[in-house]
Amino acid sequence: MDLHNDVLLEAAAKRDITVRSSTGHSDLPRLREGGVDVQCFALFVHPKDAGHGFERVMELLDAFDRLAAANHAVLGSATSVAEIARLQQAGRLAAVLAIENGSALGGDVDHLDAVYQRGVRMMSLTWNNSNGLADGAMESRHGGLTPLGRQVLTRMQQLGMIVDVSHLSAKSFWDVLAATQGPIVATHSNAAALTPHPRNLDDEQLRALARRGGVAGVNFYPTFTGGPALARILDHIAYMIKVMGPDHVALGSDFDGFGGRVSDLEDVAYLPNLTAGLLDRGYDAKTITRILGGNALRVFREIWGR
Ligand SMILES: [Zn+2]
Repeated sequence: MDLHNDVLLEAAAKRDITVRSSTGHSDLPRLREGGVDVQCFALFVHPKDAGHGFERVMELLDAFDRLAAANHAVLGSATSVAEIARLQQAGRLAAVLAIENGSALGGDVDHLDAVYQRGVRMMSLTWNNSNGLADGAMESRHGGLTPLGRQVLTRMQQLGMIVDVSHLSAKSFWDVLAATQGPIVATHSNAAALTPHPRNLDDEQLRALARRGGVAGVNFYPTFTGGPALARILDHIAYMIKVMGPDHVALGSDFDGFGGRVSDLEDVAYLPNLTAGLLDRGYDAKTITRILGGNALRVFREIWGR
């Protein structure tokens, strides 16, 4: 299971992801080669589109629906854990739709219900920039969560949508934890203690996610890992297991959300190298199975119900 991949943006714009290519990090054939059973696809609303965020996210949802309709045998949208299991048994990729940047709501809480109807089951309030809901990691403005952000969180929890705290500022992060109950997820963020960056989480934040029963998905982006090598990703996994415990670490590759290549993990087809790396570092099969999806699935089940 991978909690974050940005390839849908390319699929909506230009690249045919139904054929294997050497462009980018992923496409449907390479996801299969890499052994991915569950992929969270980011419906990313760039700040330049924030003025028409809802229209933009509808476009991305239309692009996903076209992709799913034309490739029914290969993938399906999953909105429950039972559907994930059914798709997995059928050898099809389970696609989980996740909004990255709450500007997708266009400032209207009722739009949450609209995107939920379209299959969206997870959302981050911001990207790097601040918006009407909260401050992002790279821009301090409101000082954290706004009143509208609180309304959005309340409705998300009523609907059973997973709250993703990746990209939030530290103040927003703590505001979100105080305003919510149950497991919270950071889909693609690493340990700031190893690689200091506003997009990574400090030990206190990682421990808070663990206490709440949530997970942090380890991001493969070299800027957040400390360098373009699989070993740096493994370092973050090891550190986060040490701080959070083995039940709270997951994967959030950020494939096709960053440029360049990670040596030994050049694209998603090389994911078995990550499993081999964890075995090399002495983790047992049970722990590795949790990191590779067991932990994330547990959180999905808890928030979505079955
Ligand atoms: Zn991101």
